[in-house]
Amino acid sequence: MSIRNPAWLVGFALLVIPTHALAQESGRSRPLSTPAEQKEYLSFTAADEVVPYLTALVEATGGFELDTLITLNDGSSGVVSVPVARIPVLSEPGGPPVVRVLILGAQHGTERAGLESGLRIIRDLVDGELEPLRRTLDVRVIPMTNPLGVIRRTMEAAGGIDLSHDHVDLAAAENQAIWREYADWRPHLVLDLHEMGPTEYTIQIGVPTHPNVDADLVTFARYYMLPQVAHQLARADIRFHEYVAAWTEDAEETFYTPAPLEAGNARNAFALAGAVSFLVETSSSRDIMGLEERTERMYVATRAFLEAAALLAVDLTRVVERATVLPDTTLSVAARYTARTSGSKLAWVQLNERGLRVRTALSPWLPVVEVEAVLSTPAGWMIEGGEGELIASLRAHGFQVDRMNRPISRSVQAYPICPEVVADASIGELQVRRFRAGSWWIPADQPGGRLLFTIVEPWSQYGWFAGAAAIDCPEGTFPVYRVPA
Ligand SMILES: [Zn+2]
Repeated sequence: MSIRNPAWLVGFALLVIPTHALAQESGRSRPLSTPAEQKEYLSFTAADEVVPYLTALVEATGGFELDTLITLNDGSSGVVSVPVARIPVLSEPGGPPVVRVLILGAQHGTERAGLESGLRIIRDLVDGELEPLRRTLDVRVIPMTNPLGVIRRTMEAAGGIDLSHDHVDLAAAENQAIWREYADWRPHLVLDLHEMGPTEYTIQIGVPTHPNVDADLVTFARYYMLPQVAHQLARADIRFHEYVAAWTEDAEETFYTPAPLEAGNARNAFALAGAVSFLVETSSSRDIMGLEERTERMYVATRAFLEAAALLAVDLTRVVERATVLPDTTLSVAARYTARTSGSKLAWVQLNERGLRVRTALSPWLPVVEVEAVLSTPAGWMIEGGEGELIASLRAHGFQVDRMNRPISRSVQAYPICPEVVADASIGELQVRRFRAGSWWIPADQPGGRLLFTIVEPWSQYGWFAGAAAIDCPEGTFPVYRVPA
């Protein structure tokens, strides 16, 4: 942290030192300091310190509800849990609309800044400088979404599942639990906190990129919320850049900052479901060295998002209301980044191999998404019995799925597994088909319909059936049938 900025120093003195001094006077600084703070950041908060810390915080403040989303059995480490802190809004009648904010830490177990700053955010919302934000914000923090990864010092969860890319399949019990929380509560804003390797821009933030995300939601995220956050980061002397995609000379796309289009990436999945969502990364070598500094950076970024959400409450709640609705036009089933603005340059700063900052230019670069195929939105889908895993995933996302208790005949269209062209015209003719008992009806027009469409449409590039025709081109049709609008 630089001392060049006097305004920052004054803010620090006003906000932090008195609180700390008061806490020491009252003799309760220990239980309220996070485990890493107590150890002066000479070691990480251990996985088995998280619940005892939050329990002590509840007992000391009574200001929030501590719950267990799920317990996991880690052979060698015993039972570990994924705790959630539900910090209620303290709104008054006639005030601004309440904004619900969900914060996810440590989807990747080796990325600890989200866990450390998550604990600080909880503490400061219930007993610290962030408390005034609760007049507008209802906040839930899941600081350690991947406790097994934290314990084992692996990015992935059990079974090698990368939680951050599992938000379509929900193969991991951890993600099923997160989505249950999401579906019960429908937050307006979701922050997914991560860490990345050393880069010059020490906070990088990704907005949703999947083309089926509501365009107004992306505009709001990039041009209304992000500038507020960038401003606060600049005030704190933290170097920030939005994620960008760039091209190498052989025309391969590379992500200076990874911004995959995939629907299963957390920030895309939650945005498809209708929430304004961001991937927030702080860069470092992820060692214990520097933990305090990058925890502070992540804290400043998260606090800035909370302040922006409170400030923009009216617009944020309005944009989310519209983004959860399925449009009655078309949506994408295939898209890619393009280098359409070939020749354009973006000034960029990198660290060279000696750790020095060097100015470079990315060329060409652009996060422009070209939609390659669209389909009209249907009334819904009939799915044959036997697709239990898909149905379980849809239910875990909170979608309405109706089981047929007796055989039923419906007019539907079938999807060839290997169409010549992905387009409405390639879907089969309307035919009456008899579905046996145990089949499923899924109405398309329901909350989060954009995500539902992206998962269920069998030709969807990042959907449930993605890759079904990749190896050979089998004859036949998918077990999903379209009921046209
Ligand atoms: Zn990560």
